Amino acid sequence: TRVVCLVRRPEKEPAPGDFTVEERPLPPLGEGQLLVRNLYMSVDPSMRGRLESTEKHYTHNFTPGSPLDGRALGVVEESRCPGVPPGVYVRHQLGWRERAVLNAADTDGADRIDPQLAPLPTWLGLLGQTGFTAYVGLTRVAALRPGDTVFVSAAAGAVGTAAGQFARLLGADRVVGTAGGPDKCALLVKEFGYDAAADYRAEPVRDSLARMAPDGIDVYFDNVGGEQLAAALHALRTGGRVALCGMMSQFGGARRTVDINHLIQAVLKRLMLCGFIVRDHDDLRPEFEQQVAGWLAEGRITTRETVVDGLENAPGALLSLLGGGNVGKMLVSLGDS
Ligand code: NDP
Repeated sequence: TRVVCLVRRPEKEPAPGDFTVEERPLPPLGEGQLLVRNLYMSVDPSMRGRLESTEKHYTHNFTPGSPLDGRALGVVEESRCPGVPPGVYVRHQLGWRERAVLNAADTDGADRIDPQLAPLPTWLGLLGQTGFTAYVGLTRVAALRPGDTVFVSAAAGAVGTAAGQFARLLGADRVVGTAGGPDKCALLVKEFGYDAAADYRAEPVRDSLARMAPDGIDVYFDNVGGEQLAAALHALRTGGRVALCGMMSQFGGARRTVDINHLIQAVLKRLMLCGFIVRDHDDLRPEFEQQVAGWLAEGRITTRETVVDGLENAPGALLSLLGGGNVGKMLVSLGDS
């Protein structure tokens, strides 16, 4: 099968030449295993850290000469697992390849999904790890309360478009966000239910927050770290809460050091800052799926994906995601049938 492999670790920014598409043999199908043809693959910022050798990660790092992997959704072509017939759709971890052999019973193996409930891409986006990250961050980590003013960074991305809408549906009074460029900011207000949005590249976020949330914020959903986190610390009200989800601004050569002494704000205002990894919160998944599937069925929520076609274009999709080339969830399609 064709797989995307890492050729070498990037020196600074990853480049197309760091990846290659190769033909690799599939293992024979054993008892309890499934042969799956991938239809969609998730492109995630966490892959950036996994390209490095030194970066400590919550999952394994990629190795030069070996295939990449990641969340994907496919259709079962052959099955040696009773109860999982060919034709069913499964979500799993062996993306970045056209076909994969999976253990049906592993927790990291195949998770069956219902294409009647939502379109296939939604199962990797709003109803997938992405939407779940937004839900966990808001409800459990930031303990969102009705009436809160919420600020989300990278708001036009996959987690950000979900977080803004969930916050509103969960009772937030005001939801504001930042994104790169005026087009994304306009979309946030028009399509994704944000009350106000600001371009973090055009103006210091401290100034935009003073305008968008003049009375301060109660919750900051942090996807980017750095200067935006510092700005949020100043905008938070006493007792405010920060869900530390990711640090998009800290990848690569462009990162700027921010004075850690901004944290005095946390002392003065008794703030709570809490990092989280979504997979530690699987107990919330049934509640999340029921809640979000309900909102989708009622038409109360908008879902958007940026879809790139073809396995050979998957590395380009990752580079594009890191540069902000996506609105909503970034996916690679390998043929949806
Ligand atoms: P997104 O769809 O949000 O894509 C990443 C976005 O980051 C880009 O679209 C870009 O948008 C923005 N970005 C890139 N560089 C910068 C920068 N220097 N400063 C500010 N923004 C930047 O990705 P996801 O929704 O998949 O992930 C969002 C965040 O959530 C990431 O930090 C990710 O690591 C984290 N995450 C954490 C999980 C957890 O368990 N803790 C699980 C899943 C995701 P723009 O054009 O606006 O710059």
